[in-house]
Amino acid sequence: MLERINRAYKQIARATTALGRRVNIMEVCGTHTVSIFRAGLRDAFPEGLKLLSGPGCPVCITDHGYIDTVIELADRDDCIIATYGDMIRVPGRKGSLEQRTSKGNIKVMLSAEDVLKLAKENPAKKIVFVAVGFETTAPATAVIVNEAHQQNIKNLFVFSNHKLVIPAIRALLSEVNNNIDAFLCPGHVSVIIGSDAYKPIVEEYKKPCVVAGFEPMQIIDGIAEICKQLADAAPAVSSVYPAAVSKHGNKTAQKIVDEVFDAADGYWRGLGVIKQSTLKLKDKFSSFDAEKQLNINCIPEEDLTGCRCGEVLCGLIDPPQCAMFTSQCTPDKPVGPCMVSSEGACAAWFKYGRRRRHRQ
Ligand code: SF4
Ligand code: SF4
Repeated sequence: MLERINRAYKQIARATTALGRRVNIMEVCGTHTVSIFRAGLRDAFPEGLKLLSGPGCPVCITDHGYIDTVIELADRDDCIIATYGDMIRVPGRKGSLEQRTSKGNIKVMLSAEDVLKLAKENPAKKIVFVAVGFETTAPATAVIVNEAHQQNIKNLFVFSNHKLVIPAIRALLSEVNNNIDAFLCPGHVSVIIGSDAYKPIVEEYKKPCVVAGFEPMQIIDGIAEICKQLADAAPAVSSVYPAAVSKHGNKTAQKIVDEVFDAADGYWRGLGVIKQSTLKLKDKFSSFDAEKQLNINCIPEEDLTGCRCGEVLCGLIDPPQCAMFTSQCTPDKPVGPCMVSSEGACAAWFKYGRRRRHRQ
């Protein structure tokens, strides 16, 4: 272990010398963020390395318009809202789903399959599935849509806000003021999309993309690999998680997603509209499309005044630089989504990072 840590230190030193400045690495995924904090890696690494938390948490990037629309649906007597638990505390402009749970038509699901069961058990109600998450959760949604189609289930409606990681990385790098040197790419998303999915990013932007799992040693290896590439001026796609991540990913999962969804332009909280970044149901499945069938009009809205989630998600500021951090905004009373999810950067900083060094 010591040997691997020493290797990382050596490569970080080489990279900072080669760049003549601090190295900025973005961990795209919130699980990496939490794992980094939990293991104390943020402080263990030398000053020459800055870790930036990216937009890889589905809760953090879900906009007010989406939440408000779900709340409107929750207020309807003919609907039952099926959602994963992490969404119910996300604040929209009209509060959160949690504040509506007394009405009894909000059901927290443990898996997408439970949604089908709910639909069958409540034929007189419209079951609206709050479908969020990245490439990891989209296949499960695609499976239930397919099954509902085959079983002729008429009362299931998917309100899809599934997001894609690659367009988000591209959007971050297209920002002129971005300060990202490389990406530590999420292990489980990469299990689905395959490490080759990052190739166009490396070719176009010359930024290393290294896939790592969530164990601290894998993160350390990933950072060492990134710094080596930066020091050698040889950006590439690589993986320190080869046991789980193949070059081409999970073809079965990709196929079912391609059968059910089309990529469309989509709104990301804090980041705005990102081209071809959101999965919407294909026309063939439009009878399951909540947006088309339930007469809803989801209008995204810019962030709440004072909440700096957008800058946090782009790696431009650390959460303590937001004036509301720990004063008005806490995990018990979140103002912005980055404080809601345990994987959100602000929540991770609140839990683990408040007493630690704050590197600018
Ligand atoms: S959804 Fe997956 S990729 Fe996104 S933050 Fe959560 S664990 Fe990471
Ligand atoms: S501390 Fe709260 S208000 Fe500030 S950026 Fe984070 S979530 Fe938004």
